[in-house]
Amino acid sequence: MKELIIAINSGSSSLKFQVYEFPEEKMIAKGLFERIGLATSMDLTYSLDEAKNRRSVEGETHEDAVKFLLEFLLEQKIVADLSEITGVGHRVAHGGEFFKGSCLVDDEALEKIKSLAHLAPLHNPINIMGIEAFKNNLPACPQVAVFDTSFHQTMPEENFLYPIPYHLYEEEGIRRFGFHGTSHQYVAAEAAKSLGKNVEDLKIISCHLGNGGSICAIKNGRSVITSMGFTPLAGIMMGTRCGDIDPSIVTYLGREKQMSFAEIEQMMNQESGFKGVSGISSDARDIEEAFEQGNPKAILAMNMFCGRVKQTIGSYAAELGGLDVLIFTAGIGENSPIIRQLACEGLSFFGVTVDEQRNNSRQSMISQEDGQVAVMVVPTNEERMIVRETNQLIAN
Ligand code: ADP
Repeated sequence: MKELIIAINSGSSSLKFQVYEFPEEKMIAKGLFERIGLATSMDLTYSLDEAKNRRSVEGETHEDAVKFLLEFLLEQKIVADLSEITGVGHRVAHGGEFFKGSCLVDDEALEKIKSLAHLAPLHNPINIMGIEAFKNNLPACPQVAVFDTSFHQTMPEENFLYPIPYHLYEEEGIRRFGFHGTSHQYVAAEAAKSLGKNVEDLKIISCHLGNGGSICAIKNGRSVITSMGFTPLAGIMMGTRCGDIDPSIVTYLGREKQMSFAEIEQMMNQESGFKGVSGISSDARDIEEAFEQGNPKAILAMNMFCGRVKQTIGSYAAELGGLDVLIFTAGIGENSPIIRQLACEGLSFFGVTVDEQRNNSRQSMISQEDGQVAVMVVPTNEERMIVRETNQLIAN
């Protein structure tokens, strides 16, 4: 009998799935339901091999999508019986301070995840809908929650606290949480594996650069500091997010410009970053194109972005007291040689080098032959990490 594990990532109007066969950890199907709740039907794109397929699916809720997915797995003969699905792993945005790792979702864990919804009001409730949909339609199957935050729970207090009155941490839980944990953990493990080393023996900086971006310093296989904070707005500059700015800008805009909290939040989350600085686009590909054509705003946006990545790498190398591996991952990190090059420029004084030819030819090791730090491009795969964690928890 087959053993299949499904990774689920539910968004407000979408549900992404990947189906893996174990113990081979081989991906055998993946797909995306979109436009959930926007009409009486939703769109499904899926692939079982290389070819991409599309169809329209009746229904308007996440639960309808899950019901269809289960029928679809039977119809496509991916499973002969639903009991072949031995686990479902869900991406959950926020585990607060409670979840230090992934967990099997029983009633108590589900209640706890619900109680953390105030920390991620746009995400946790949607993730819970995904979990409940499977609970209702596949009640005997174990489910696992894999949190974006839990990898960072190893940060020491001096790194996760903000220098504001301590009672705001004690009473309100205001602290740095960090996100993209699944990705940072996955690429660090993959990099160590490809170097033939133990992740515990390496000092690693992982740069997850996508629409959202964060950087993480990893020592002994554990996160010691990461650039996102109480929310995913903090840290480096991003596609539309400002990252770290002087907090007084917020109070200034409220006081002097009578902007509301909602307007300021919208400005910082949706109108800043690449988009806000360049006035061109939030998409790194558009910025790169304009940069190459000599557009001054695009040049400025690129220099600001790469500068912030570089400054973070420098400070995290100081935090680690050295550096063995520097990783680039996610949409920009995996695909933009120019951003990797600019972010590493001038860092040879602490062993970070980029070989032009390697960087431009899609190799995974892009540092120079004699570079002391292994600079690597490692494709992230949060879904694979989710099924790995799920498999481990259900095996225990
Ligand atoms: P997220 O998951 O945060 O939405 P992704 O990891 O998919 O983001 O990354 C999206 C970003 O990656 C976009 O800014 C996009 O422009 C960038 N990107 C994708 N492909 C390329 C490419 N070939 N060159 C440069 N940037 C790219």
